[in-house]
Amino acid sequence: MAENHDVSHLQPYIDRGQQMAESEAAQRQLMRRKRFDTIAVHGIYGLEAVMANQGSINEPAYLTPAQHFENSDHMETALAYLMPAWAYSRIANPTLHYLEETLALLEGYGFAGEVSCCTASSGMAAIFLATNPFLVEEQRGESINIVVSSRCYGGTFMLFSERYAKERGIDVRWVKDPLDLSEWQSLVDSQTRFLFGEMPSNPGLAVFDIEQVADLAHQAGVPLIVDSTVATPALLRPLCFGADIVVQSVSKSMNTGGLAIAGAVIARHQIPSQVGPDELKDNYALYLKLLPGRDFGPSLSPFSALMILNDLRTLRSKLDRLSRNAMQVASFLDQHAGVTAVSYPGLKNDPGYPVASRLMTLVDAEEESGQTVNRYGHLLSFRVAGGVASTRRFFDRLQMIMRATDLGRIKSIATIPAISTHQQQGDEGRSLADIPPDLVRLNVGGEHPLDIIDDLEQALQR
Ligand SMILES: *Cc1c(COP(=O)(O)O)cnc(C)c1O
Repeated sequence: MAENHDVSHLQPYIDRGQQMAESEAAQRQLMRRKRFDTIAVHGIYGLEAVMANQGSINEPAYLTPAQHFENSDHMETALAYLMPAWAYSRIANPTLHYLEETLALLEGYGFAGEVSCCTASSGMAAIFLATNPFLVEEQRGESINIVVSSRCYGGTFMLFSERYAKERGIDVRWVKDPLDLSEWQSLVDSQTRFLFGEMPSNPGLAVFDIEQVADLAHQAGVPLIVDSTVATPALLRPLCFGADIVVQSVSKSMNTGGLAIAGAVIARHQIPSQVGPDELKDNYALYLKLLPGRDFGPSLSPFSALMILNDLRTLRSKLDRLSRNAMQVASFLDQHAGVTAVSYPGLKNDPGYPVASRLMTLVDAEEESGQTVNRYGHLLSFRVAGGVASTRRFFDRLQMIMRATDLGRIKSIATIPAISTHQQQGDEGRSLADIPPDLVRLNVGGEHPLDIIDDLEQALQR
């Protein structure tokens, strides 16, 4: 941060920065008192920011690499991080700032403490950024470990198993049944740097009890990192259940229109960690943004940020509708003779149902119905009777549902994870992650649910 020299000549800019920070803090406090939909629509882009942007009712996309400064003092103050500024788009950018503040407010909705966000160019960039700073060796050759639910996205599996375990010698301890607290417990020790889980998981829809696993992490003095891409903050806010850091592939349900790839790390302030400077623990997302993010450079395009802001405004109502569609499709598949198993945490016979029902609720639904409303998201997976060959026949017969490695969309999309998203991890890796070769993952879209069911029905028929 600031060099250790006399900065008194910068005082006017430091003072101006102070005022800017206070005015933004006031806007943030104002928005924290609003409801989820209001935050999703406006974020931190209030009337003052509107007027500073020539009255533009939408956040402008600042498609410019750098900021012009008034003079050398202004530049020096900004680059010493002594006043809010953005300087260069790899480090910060006004459009990214609007998105980051919105995501922090949404993910921190209902959470009492302060929350910050750092965006990244993809979900994987966010997961790398969120995890890498904890993996420093304080002494050369030190043996360190991480404890991770094996029921996770293929990219995450590869990052941890190839890049971290094979290339860097980090001991990656896989939890095979994330619902089993004793398994998590048996793997954590004094050399553990963090615990990581997906809730719910892609593609298996496995769940875990965030509260219990967070307690375990905190007893060990380390953070719990939760990937809640499949749920989004409209259905699950892990920080409220004790998680320290949330990672999101913003490419998915946060952005159902699918006009951009993006990721985000959202963290509460004052996180536990066995390593790193005070800045890391005080405000992890800001630390990532200003230091490791600056040096690794996985910054998001401001154009993508605008596409996402635009899609986010209707997040809650979309996730409500999409989840209801998925529930109807899951019930159909569950009763179909051509389907041997369905994984969807909203089905009463799903092993994740009790935990998911405690943690996954549609935000602010009580206002309309007077009671909490469970919604379980729009991703599900199932196995087709007859093995791999009939699974592929079913898949190839789909007439409307798209065959693609994608999810989170307003359009229904199916994939066979073993030959797509989870192909690279091999048989052994797939069995660890519980991905059988006849598993179909289905992203239930916003089409009429009966049309989705019709397409599935005709493809399942012999
Ligand atoms: C897609 C996905 C990621 C990776 O996100 P990208 O934006 O594709 O890099 C991470 N976690 C989960 C659960 C995902 O579904």
